[in-house]
Amino acid sequence: MTRVHNFSAGPAALPLPVLQQMQAEMLDFKGTGMSVMEMSHRGPVFMEVLKRAFDTLRRLLNVPENYEILFLQGGAQGENAIIPMNLLGGDRTTSDHVISGAWSIKTQKEAEKYGASNIIANANDGEGRYTYFPEPDQWQLSERSAYVSICTNETIHGVEWYPSAELAAKIEASGSFLVADMSSHILSRPIDISRYGVIYGGAQKNIGPSGLTFVIVRNDLLDRAQSICPSAFTWRNVADNDSMFNTPPTMAIYCAGLVFEWLEANGGLEAMARVNDAKAKLLYDAIDNSTLYRNDVHPAYRSCMNVPFFLNDESLNQAFLDGAAAAGMAGLKGHKMVGGMRASIYNAVSLESVHALVAYMEAFERDHA
Ligand code: PMP
Repeated sequence: MTRVHNFSAGPAALPLPVLQQMQAEMLDFKGTGMSVMEMSHRGPVFMEVLKRAFDTLRRLLNVPENYEILFLQGGAQGENAIIPMNLLGGDRTTSDHVISGAWSIKTQKEAEKYGASNIIANANDGEGRYTYFPEPDQWQLSERSAYVSICTNETIHGVEWYPSAELAAKIEASGSFLVADMSSHILSRPIDISRYGVIYGGAQKNIGPSGLTFVIVRNDLLDRAQSICPSAFTWRNVADNDSMFNTPPTMAIYCAGLVFEWLEANGGLEAMARVNDAKAKLLYDAIDNSTLYRNDVHPAYRSCMNVPFFLNDESLNQAFLDGAAAAGMAGLKGHKMVGGMRASIYNAVSLESVHALVAYMEAFERDHA
C-alpha cells in the first residue's frame, strides 16, 4: 500500500485508522450484513451512528446546551443562501460582511439575493491580494444588521482570525450576532461557541467526506426563516427532526463520526491545537528562512491549516510540483486564483508529513540555488 503525503485543500486527507475501520466494516457493518450506505437512515443501527456523531462532536467542541448541531447538504456555498433565508426578516433585512478573501466574497454575493448586504470592511489591497483580516475597529456596522458574516479561515488566501469575546458581546448588544464560515479550520483547536450565533461549513476538509454540511446554531435563531426557504433547509425543521427531515448523507455522517472519535481518542482539540501549531511553525519557519519561497500573509493572520507559498522564481513551479509528486507528495498546487503553491495541513496531515515537505523544499532550494 502506498499512501502519499496529502496536502489537498479539500476534499482532503482523512485519518488512516478511520479509513481502515471503514474498510473493515464496509461489507458487514456490525453484523447487519450490509454497509452503512445500504441501510435505512431510520433504522436503529444508523440512528445510533448519527447519535454518536452528534454526541462526540458536541463533546469535542464543547457546544453549549442552547445550541443545535445540524447536519445538512449543499456545502458551505449552499449555506451561503440558506443562512440569509433563515435569518433575514422582520426589521432586520441587512447582512453585514467582512471581506477577507475569496470565500467571504462569495458569501456576500450570495446573501445579496435575499436581502441587502453591506461590505463593512475589505482587506483587498486593490489588486486582489488578501494578506490580513480587517480588525473590528475598521468595521462599519450597519444600523440594524441582522448578522455579521465572517470567514475565520480563508482557504485560498491562507488568512485566519478569531473574534474576541468583547467583539461578540458588542455585536450582540446591537441586536446582531456573528455568523462564521469555519469550513477549513473547524476542529483544528478549541473555540468558544458562545461568541457566535451560527457556525457553518462543509465537512470535506477537517471533518470527513464531502456531501455533509454542518451548522451549529443558537436556539433562539431557529424561527426566523423566510417563507421562501426550502423546507429541507429550514433550520427549525431540520432541528426538530434531528437532521433527518429528509434523508441525510449517511455514509458521510458515519465517516465524520469516526473522525470525531479519532480526535477524541487522540486527546481532543487541545492536543490537536498543539500539533497543528507545531506543523504550522515548522512550515512557516522553513518558508521565512528561505530565499526561494515566500508567504505574503502578515504573520498575525497566517492560517494554521492552509499555507499558500510562492517560489520567487516562478519558472521553477512545474519542476517543484513534479519533484514533489516523485517524492510522494500530492495536492500542493496553489488555487488557480492566486497561483503558486499551497500546503493544506489539516488535522489528518501528520507532523511527519510536514517534516517530509520541509525536507523536500530545502532539498529543492539547494538543487536550484
Ligand atoms: N468556504 C470556505 C472557507 C471554503 O474553503 C470552501 C471550499 N473550499 C467553501 C466555503 C465552499 O464549500 P462547498 O464546496 O462545500 O460549497
